[in-house]
Amino acid sequence: MPLSGKIIVEIGHRSTQTGRAKLGVGDRVKRLNFTLDEEAGILLDQISEKYYHGNKSLTVRAALESLATHLGHAGWVIAGYAPMVLDHEENCHSCGTEYAGGEVLYRPVFQRGNAPDAMQQIPQESWLDCSKCVEMRTAVSA
Ligand SMILES: [Zn+2]
Repeated sequence: MPLSGKIIVEIGHRSTQTGRAKLGVGDRVKRLNFTLDEEAGILLDQISEKYYHGNKSLTVRAALESLATHLGHAGWVIAGYAPMVLDHEENCHSCGTEYAGGEVLYRPVFQRGNAPDAMQQIPQESWLDCSKCVEMRTAVSA
């Protein structure tokens, strides 16, 4: 490796590499320069030799995809809930249970973030969850 710690990575998709047009970017390829410390460089060498026929670009791409899966994708995530007293009967968005006027349901508050269930857009429909569903959801993400 004559680049002494400098790695050039081709980011993009080639149909022969994975067979899946996951990013939908066709054959466009972008050259990126970045540096790795020695330890990370060795790790990249080892993994690319062992699993990717020495192809470092593919190795980094696979690592990023794995990381993205782990972190979740970018979008709108529920940051919290604002309680609302119903002025008419309403169904819980999640479980469908009907609640009468005067009961308290919770309207989700969205913010940008990364999550496996992140939404591409803020949902347009009215969305009120009951306390049981809010508890379940926050227990899962906690
Ligand atoms: Zn519910």
